[in-house]
Order: sequence, then structure tokens, then C-alpha cells
Amino acid sequence: MNTHILNIDENSLKICKKIISEGGAVAFPTETVYGLGANAFDDTAVNNIFKIKGRPNDNPLIVHVHQDYDISNLVCNIPDYAVKLAKTYLPGPLTMVYKSKGKVSSAVSCGLDTLAIRVPEHKGAQEFLKYVNLPIAAPSANISKHVSPVTAEHVYSDLNGKIQVILDGGKCSGGIESTVLDCTGDVPTILRSGLITQEMISAVAGDCLVYIPKDGEKVKSPGMKYKHYSPNCDTMLYELSELDKALETYDKFLAEGIKVCFLCDEITSKLIGGRNFLNLGKDGKDIASNLYLKLREGEKNFQMLIAVAPQDKSGVMVGVMNRLTKACKNK
Ligand code: AMP
Ligand code: MG
Repeated sequence: MNTHILNIDENSLKICKKIISEGGAVAFPTETVYGLGANAFDDTAVNNIFKIKGRPNDNPLIVHVHQDYDISNLVCNIPDYAVKLAKTYLPGPLTMVYKSKGKVSSAVSCGLDTLAIRVPEHKGAQEFLKYVNLPIAAPSANISKHVSPVTAEHVYSDLNGKIQVILDGGKCSGGIESTVLDCTGDVPTILRSGLITQEMISAVAGDCLVYIPKDGEKVKSPGMKYKHYSPNCDTMLYELSELDKALETYDKFLAEGIKVCFLCDEITSKLIGGRNFLNLGKDGKDIASNLYLKLREGEKNFQMLIAVAPQDKSGVMVGVMNRLTKACKNK
């Protein structure tokens, strides 16, 4: 199968609609990362997404809809706080989990009685979702466990030959996956942190919890238990307070002839004395936006990446640290 990267226009949308209606999958941009989408009502199409990615079949998918789609077709028991949150933050990088009406393929939620719904803000995503006018089940458009794609070229390098079309919407501005919020209880609960932070949710909903699985408990968001976001090179992660140790490690690898590079924010880049570095940027937003881009650049050019965690771990950095820790450990 040949894979084509296409600009988003009437012609490419028509091609995508045909592929989706025939049970195929296409990659499309969002403001977080690129998605690999298929018709959420079609069992075969949804199962095919798991096959293309090599995704574990107990890791449920998020259903993407356009901003005028009536989600009461798909889910029920929508609490008042969720209505408020949707009014404030949607379309945007917030996925909300509700009780499912069981209308989409059971493969989407991997047997859970809930359904995760997202309304992306990206103009190209909205155009695609409106044009196909179906709920689209979509995980990130990468091979399972690899770094999520934030450009059409990233998708191509993972899925070349496995899908027909990648809609090109440029570099994803957000850069890390959406916040996943459980809206089935009395208080909204973050299952995966992202660009819509606990503080932002609390400000609208009055309260917001963060789910931490207890030992031995069946996890609420199965995706969180897997190794994720890992570049195809060796990685290490240090705190800024361990910078001396990180510098020593870098120099040791360099002396052994290993192509090594730091992955750090701008402040840290000034403290590493002219050694190689990939710059994650200044603040949380910057760092989220650059993280996957730089991890993919790093794996292409180096054998060893030494990440140094930024000092400030509040707000968006909660989500960034979750991804960075999984990218650099869990080997
Ligand atoms: P991905 O699309 O690869 O970014 O992963 C989707 C994330 O959403 C994973 O962490 C899933 O566990 C989570 N998710 C999807 N559907 C549900 C659901 N019904 N309940 C809880 N978490 C979900
Ligand atoms: Mg993913």
C-alpha cells in the first residue's frame, strides 16, 4: 500500500470519506498529536486500528466528534459540571469520559461501560470530522509505545505502507496528548494529565481530583499502565538538582564514543558548558509543544539522550513530566 501525505482540501476530504466509509483508517492532525481514525460504529475498522498500531487490545480508544455533534447520541448521565467544562474548554485538548449508551463498536472501549469523547480544536480536524460526519475512534497515529507524532512526517515514518492517507495539518501546537477526565462521578477526576490542567478544571467545576491507582487495583484508564512515548534510542532522566551527575554521565558516554545529547529546557542549557543539547524551550507550554518533536529528533541523531527535568513541575508540566518519565524509564 502506498501512503500519501495530502493537504486538507475538498479533494483529500472526499478521499478520506471514501476510505472511512469502506472501513479503512486515515491519519489526521489535531492540536495535541496526530490521530489514526476509523468509523467508531464499525467493528472491523476499529479492530484494524489496534492491528495497524500493534496496540494492546485492553487499551481503549477516544472517539472524536465535530463541535456540532450531539454527544447524547453516544453517552448518558452527563453531569452539570461536565456541561460547564465543555462550554469553557471545548473544542480543545480535553477528553471527557461518560457512561456509554453502547452505540459505538464495543472494541472502542475494550469492554468498559464508559466512552471517552473528544472535540478537537484544530481547524483541519474539525473539517475532517464534519466532512465524514461520523464519530471517529482515534488513538495517536504512531506504532504502539513509540513517541506520539506531531507532524505528518512523523506519522509517515511510523505508518508508511500501512495506511493510504495522512492529512497534513502542520506541526501540532499543543504537543502532548489530551487531558483525560472521568466525568462519571460526583467530582471530575483526571485519568491522564495534559494541557487542560487540574487548576483549570477546578476553576470551572469547583473541584477536580487526580486518579492514582492503588496497588493491585484494576486501573481506570488502562492506557496508563503501558510503556509509552519511548524514543528508539537509550535515554536517562535526571533532576536539575542532579546536574553534576548528569554532566559526569554525559562525559563518560562521550569518552566511550557514544553519540550523546542533553534534552533540557533553556535555563538548563546554559548550565551544561557547551555540550550538545536539544532545547525544549522556556515555559511549560513551550516544553509540551516541543517534547515529542525533540524526542524524535534525538532518536534520529543520537544514541543516548540525557533528559534533565525542569525545576517547575506545576500546571502543564504535570503532563509533561508524566510523558518524560515514561519516555525515559519503563524500559
Ligand atoms: P491515546 O489515544 O493513545 O492517546 O490513548 C487514549 C487514552 O485514553 C488511554 O490512556 C486510554 O486508557 C484512555 N481512555 C480511552 N477510553 C477510555 C475510557 N472509556 N475510560 C478511561 N480511559 C479511557
Ligand atoms: Mg497513544
